[in-house]
Amino acid sequence: MKAPPFRYARPRTLAAALKLLAEGGESARLLAGGQSLVPALNMRLLEPKLLIDINGLGELSGISETRTGIRVGALTRQAVLGASDIVARRAPLLTAAVPFIAHAAIRNRGTFGGSLAQADPAAELPACAVALEAQLEIAGPRGLRRVPARDFFKGVYETALARDEILVAAEIPAQRGETLFLELARRHGDYAMAGLAGWATVQQGRVTEARLVFFGTDIRAIEAKAASAALATSVEAAIAALDRDLTPVADFNAGAAMKRHLAGALLRRACAAVMVRAA
Ligand SMILES: Cc1cc2nc3c(=O)[nH]c(=O)nc-3n(C[C@H](O)[C@H](O)[C@H](O)COP(=O)(O)OP(=O)(O)OC[C@H]3O[C@@H](n4cnc5c(N)ncnc54)[C@H](O)[C@@H]3O)c2cc1C
Repeated sequence: MKAPPFRYARPRTLAAALKLLAEGGESARLLAGGQSLVPALNMRLLEPKLLIDINGLGELSGISETRTGIRVGALTRQAVLGASDIVARRAPLLTAAVPFIAHAAIRNRGTFGGSLAQADPAAELPACAVALEAQLEIAGPRGLRRVPARDFFKGVYETALARDEILVAAEIPAQRGETLFLELARRHGDYAMAGLAGWATVQQGRVTEARLVFFGTDIRAIEAKAASAALATSVEAAIAALDRDLTPVADFNAGAAMKRHLAGALLRRACAAVMVRAA
C-alpha cells in the first residue's frame, strides 16, 4: 500500500519545527529516519495530515565527548553511533548493541532519537539508554526539560514526550564496568524475543556492581534492580530474582513463560562471558 496524502514541511531551525508541531496538533508527526514511521504510513496504521521532516536541523546531529561522558544528538544515525570511537571508548554498550538493530540499510537512515521516541519494547537502544542512565533533553513550547531515561519509557510505543515536544539529545555518563549485551531473535536483525543490556564491575571473580536492563520481555525496557543486586551473591540468585523484576508479556515471538526462561538464560550467558573478559 501507499501512504495516505499528507502535507510536508522541512523546517531549518528547532524553533520553526516546534512552531509547526504546535500548529499541527494531533494531526502532525515528526519524520526522522522514517524507518518506523514510513512503514506505519504505508500500512495505514497512521494518517497524519502533516509530516515535519527534522532532517534539516543540524543542531540535533552529532556525537561529542563531555566532561562526564558523551552527548548524542537525536538525529545521529544508528550507523554513525555504532562506528563512533568516542562511543566505543565512553559507552561501549551502545557499540555492542547497534549491530543488532535491523540491517545496515536501516541503520544508515534510522536515528538514535527516533528509536528512543518510537519506544518499541523489543528495541535495543531504549534498554541501553536506561542501563547507561542517560538524561534525555526534550524541547517544547515551554523550553527545554530533562528526563532520566528510566522515566521516559512508559509502555508499548509510549513515552514521556508530549505531542508538541521534540527529543533533542541524550547526555550519557561514561560507562562503568564491563559491557553485558546479548539478545535472542528468530533471525539476526529481527526485533529481540528477549534481550539484556547492561554493565557489571568485577573484582576477584565477583560482581561488585551491576545494572541490568531487559528488553523484549515486558511492555518496556525494564531495569532488573533485584537481579542486579543479587549478582553480588551469585548468578543463580540473580536469575531467581528476575521473578521480582520482570512481568513478561507474550507476543507473536514467544509466550510469557518462554520469555522469563530466556531472560534467565541470557543472564547466565552474559555473566559467563563477562567473567572470562574480566579475568
Ligand atoms: C525491517 C525493519 C527492521 C527493524 N528492526 C529493528 C530492530 O531490530 N531493532 C530496533 O531497535 N529497531 C528496528 N527497526 C526500527 C528502526 O531502528 C527505526 O529506525 C527506529 O525505530 C526509528 O528511528 P527513525 O529515525 O527511523 O524514526 P522515524 O521512523 O522517523 O520516527 C519514529 C517515531 O519517532 C518520532 N520521532 C522521531 N524522531 C523524533 C524526535 N527527535 N523527537 C520526537 N519524536 C521523534 C516520529 O514522529 C515517529 O513517531 C526496524 C525497522 C525496519 C523497517
